[in-house]
Amino acid sequence: MKAKSVLARERLQHFKDTMSPLDGGAIALNFVNTLKDRGSENPKDFLTDYEDFLYWCNRAGVIAYDHYQAISLEAYCYVSEAKAAFQQVITSRFMLHQIFLSLIKAEPADEIFVREFNSGLDASAKSLRYESTSDGWQLVWLNIDEEILLPLWIVLRSAAELLLGANPKRIKQCKTCGSLFLDRTKNNARRWCNQTTCGRIPSDKRYYKIRKGVKTEVNYPKTYEVLKTS
Ligand SMILES: [Zn+2]
Repeated sequence: MKAKSVLARERLQHFKDTMSPLDGGAIALNFVNTLKDRGSENPKDFLTDYEDFLYWCNRAGVIAYDHYQAISLEAYCYVSEAKAAFQQVITSRFMLHQIFLSLIKAEPADEIFVREFNSGLDASAKSLRYESTSDGWQLVWLNIDEEILLPLWIVLRSAAELLLGANPKRIKQCKTCGSLFLDRTKNNARRWCNQTTCGRIPSDKRYYKIRKGVKTEVNYPKTYEVLKTS
């Protein structure tokens, strides 16, 4: 096994080359967008293992650097737990993508995803506690310094806040690459995840053209085969 310092150096270089863009305007949407160009024949996945996800969480503002280091060490020591957590990450990313797509289409989300979403939030609730301070009440995380699932819980809770708090008409899909984003502009007229990269692509290369002829059925990850029949 390579030393952790060597792995960290290699990881840093890997991320300098491959960090996914943070154009979604919200943590949950940036997370969904770590799988890019889903409708094309060559989708790009920026997350290949748990450490990728953890590093992304630090860069995307989900967890602070000292927390990233503590959880990273935990994942390094408990490889099978980190692998299982990563499977949950990928399943959750798929679920959130489906949930936000339903919202964009003004349709109710599939019951499988609603159930999965609630169960993720339930798991996170066990580490949350309301506390009273001189500044008022706060919701704080408890005993999570080495909790491998904490970053995913934070992403799920930010998704819940977005689903309840944002105007659904402001959650959109980029017309060029299919990424999701929250439109924070005054007149709600944003059409692309990134004006510079996606806004300049000629119309004949855009998402609806890329999707043409590409199969449109939902490809459920293996983990959902279990959920579908339960
Ligand atoms: Zn785009």
